[in-house]
Amino acid sequence: MSHIDGSNAASHARAARLAGEPAADPRDRGGLRQPLLIARGLRKRFAVRGGLFGRTMAHVHAVDGVSFSIAKGETLGVVGESGCGKSTLARLLMRLVEPDAGELIFDGEAVGERTGLTLGELRKNVQMVFQDSSASLNPRMSVAESIAYGMRVHGATRDAARQTAHTLLEQVGLRAALFAARYPHELSGGQKQRVNIARALALNPRLLILDEAVSALDKSVEAQVLMLLRALKAQLNLTYLFISHDLHVVRYVSDRVLVMYLGEIVEIGPADDVYRNPGHPYTRALFGCQLDTDPRRRIAEAPLAGDPPNPVDPPPGCRFHPRCPYAEHVCTTRVPSLGDALAAPLHAVACHMHDAASAHTRAGDPPAGMPHAFRADGDASDARRPPDLLRS
Ligand code: SF4
Repeated sequence: MSHIDGSNAASHARAARLAGEPAADPRDRGGLRQPLLIARGLRKRFAVRGGLFGRTMAHVHAVDGVSFSIAKGETLGVVGESGCGKSTLARLLMRLVEPDAGELIFDGEAVGERTGLTLGELRKNVQMVFQDSSASLNPRMSVAESIAYGMRVHGATRDAARQTAHTLLEQVGLRAALFAARYPHELSGGQKQRVNIARALALNPRLLILDEAVSALDKSVEAQVLMLLRALKAQLNLTYLFISHDLHVVRYVSDRVLVMYLGEIVEIGPADDVYRNPGHPYTRALFGCQLDTDPRRRIAEAPLAGDPPNPVDPPPGCRFHPRCPYAEHVCTTRVPSLGDALAAPLHAVACHMHDAASAHTRAGDPPAGMPHAFRADGDASDARRPPDLLRS
C-alpha cells in the first residue's frame, strides 16, 4: 500500500471526515488514509536447542511470512488455536522479539531504519495489555507508581507523572483517592486489568495490543472492561489489535478479523463478512467449535479433530491439509496464496478452492454455508451438524 504524503493529507482528511472516519489526530503523520501499521512478510523462527553442547536441533516456525495492515481507528481481531502464533505476532509488532525477516511501517515510516521510526518511538506509540493482570504489575509498587513508571523513564517529572497517573486511574473507572496508594494484592482481577490499561495509556499510545486482555476475567467484569475499552477508543482516538480465543467477543469488538493457523494468515476480512461467510475450511471449523447456549444447537462431535501439526516441521503445501476434508493432491504440494492481504477492505482466503486458476477440483467453487450459530438469520430448528460444515 502506498504511502500518502503530507501534501495530500488535508484533502484525504476532509474526505475521511465526510466518510465518517475517525477525527484527525495531531500525532498523525501520514494522513488519515495511511494505515497506522503495516506488517510486511514478518517471520520468526525460534531455535530448539538440545544435545550436550546446546546446539540448534530444529526451528519452531512461530510466524511465517505474515502481511497485513491496521487502519487508523479500527479494531483488528486475531483468532486461532493456541500455538498458532498470535502472541508471537503481537510481540513482533512491538519488537519485543526481533523478526528474522519482514518489515514494519508505522504511520508511513519504516521502523528501525536509519531514516525511519526508532524502536523507542515505536514503543511509545504501541503499547500492550497482557492476559495475566497480576504478573504484569510489580508487587512492590503502588498502583500510582506502576502507572507513573513509564512516564518517569521517558523523562516526566515525579509530580507530572503522579498527576497523570491519577487522571488515568479516573479514566479507567478507579477513584484515584481510593486506589492510587494500593498495591496489586489489594486489587481484584478486574481492577488489576484496569490498572494495566491505565499503565498502557500512560505514554499516550496510538495502537493498543490487547493479548487475551479480557480472557481471564469473570464474564460480568469482562463485559465492563470491554465497555471501558470501547469508550477509551473513542475518547483517545485509539486503534486496537484484539487477540482472543473467544470468537463471540472478537465479533463484538472487531471491525476486521484475521485468522491464523500454524504461523500463517489463512483468512482476513471485515468481521461481519468473515463471520457470515467464513471461506477457509479452518475458519469454518473454528467457528463450528464455538459452543452455543441454545440446547437445540448442541453438537455431538467437534468440527475440528486432532491437534495442529508440529510447528517444528509444518506440513508442505497448505498447512491445514492433514486436517482438511477437502484436501487434494495440489494442497499437499502448493502453498495457497492469500492474495493482497494489505488491501484493507478485502476479504481474502488462503485456500486453493478460492483460486479459480488452481488445480483443485473445486477451484473457484468453494462450498457454501457456515456454522449455524453464527448465521444471523439462522433457524434454530436446524441443529448444527459438524460433518456438514466441512464436507460437500
Ligand atoms: Fe483444504 Fe486445500 Fe483449502 Fe488447504 S488449500 S484449506 S487443504 S482445500
